[in-house]
Amino acid sequence: MQTSHEARSYSNFIGGAWRDPHGETLESRNPATGELVSRAPRSSSAEVDAAVDAAREAFDSGVWSGKRPSERARVLLDASEAVRSGLDELSLLLTLENGKPLADAKGELLNAANVLEYFASAARHVGGRIPRYGSSDVSLVVHEPVGVCALIVPWNSPISLLSWKLGPALAAGCTVVIKPSEYTSGVSMEFVKLLAKTAAPPGVVNAVTGTGDAVGSSLVKNVKVDKVSFTGSTETGRRIMEMASVNLKRINLECGGKSTDIIFDDANLELALPSAVWSIFRSAGQSCNAGSRLLVQDTIYESFMRRYRNAAGAIRVGNGLDPQTEMGPLVSDRQLERVVSYIESGRHAGAKVTLGGKRITQGALARGFFVEPTIFEDVTRDMKVFQEEIFGPVVCVLPFRDEDDAISISNDTKYGLAGDLWSRSMSRIMKVSQGVRTGTVWVNRHLNPGPEVPFGGYKQSGVGRETGMEGLAEFLQTKHISLQLTDESERVRR
Ligand code: NAD
Repeated sequence: MQTSHEARSYSNFIGGAWRDPHGETLESRNPATGELVSRAPRSSSAEVDAAVDAAREAFDSGVWSGKRPSERARVLLDASEAVRSGLDELSLLLTLENGKPLADAKGELLNAANVLEYFASAARHVGGRIPRYGSSDVSLVVHEPVGVCALIVPWNSPISLLSWKLGPALAAGCTVVIKPSEYTSGVSMEFVKLLAKTAAPPGVVNAVTGTGDAVGSSLVKNVKVDKVSFTGSTETGRRIMEMASVNLKRINLECGGKSTDIIFDDANLELALPSAVWSIFRSAGQSCNAGSRLLVQDTIYESFMRRYRNAAGAIRVGNGLDPQTEMGPLVSDRQLERVVSYIESGRHAGAKVTLGGKRITQGALARGFFVEPTIFEDVTRDMKVFQEEIFGPVVCVLPFRDEDDAISISNDTKYGLAGDLWSRSMSRIMKVSQGVRTGTVWVNRHLNPGPEVPFGGYKQSGVGRETGMEGLAEFLQTKHISLQLTDESERVRR
């Protein structure tokens, strides 16, 4: 297992050039050990404005939107190929900054490469339609790029979530300013280095690092930005919606979730059980679509939960660089405090901890932000742990009676991102999948098969969709050009 890493320093990428930081830097540290991984600029509002100006100039010049779709596709394909070639280095840095096991980091980067390839093909399908009202009366409905886009991303899957935004933005002909999370600036800027080597003209891709309050909000308030595509918490999403009103920016918000994993008694339990375990504990629960509320039909509750507790109790927690590790640490001390305080709140409210429930304070893991896989049973629907997004390795389990009960429990939240449903009965599947108010329902599986389908939330889980052709449409404007093809004298005669 590789344990040492020389900390690297990064610069902002503005107008096709690397700009050294003028002021303070941000440090990102390995959440498994506390060691320094990278330094990146704590950018000023002047640096943010410079990045927006570069993106504005590149957009307004038409240097990118005027390119042939095949040329835009080529840039995306080259970026994808660069991610695949740089897989080992990028995944190591991702694990060092985020803590996730190396195999999961590689999976995330391959997902990003696949998404970029998908949007390379999508770039060649941007078009429109031509309604006709007669032989000389024709309309052109054309799709044009939205303009300058701010892409603001979180730390939990920093590169794949960035590819969900960057792919459609570049395919559509937009120019971008990327704002990585302060916890994963290093791997994000390493990815930007790969983009810098593609044939994208200067100013098409820009990236500035810094905190959300300073750099993120400067970007959102800048009136030269036409659109904000944001992934992060619902709380920040709400602030972004307010700030973006300054010039009625288009917004995409991919926010928090409190997804249910519903297990009916007729399900294939050999598949449902490991899926229910990994839907919450993969990435230590730090996933927007984590199955953080497990609903088990009352007829199988005891037998299913006996097996579930054993499976979750066997998860190997450790440093993401150790090939044996299945679950890594939480990303930061802030996240650790948040998760531990939710566990305390659940205990005080009367929920029963049937597995885990503590920070790991023994041995080498004591240096990192590790929390045991934790199961809460005897939970009631009004408890904070049941209602709020914990974003840690904590699952709340509830028995349910029938389809109506499962739908009612599932919908009893302000979130509506996604959820899993396990059954062999088509009538149950149809009833529950149509009854739950979420943007995605995975039936007898967890996660999307590929980027061809849309992802996004109902209710306070977000606004708009990412991936799929729906994700591309978010970066396009619609213009109607009405054409009268006869000359004036002919029209008057008619
Ligand atoms: P966060 O909201 O704290 O930060 C997300 C990004 O927004 C970061 O880059 C941050 O610097 C920036 N930011 C923070 N405050 C800002 C402000 N005032 N103005 C502009 N930008 C600001 O979220 P996080 O802790 O990084 O990520 C975890 C959250 O992300 C969870 O709630 C999770 O559910 C959500 N998430 C959602 C999806 C999805 O697809 N729906 C995917 C992954 C994560």
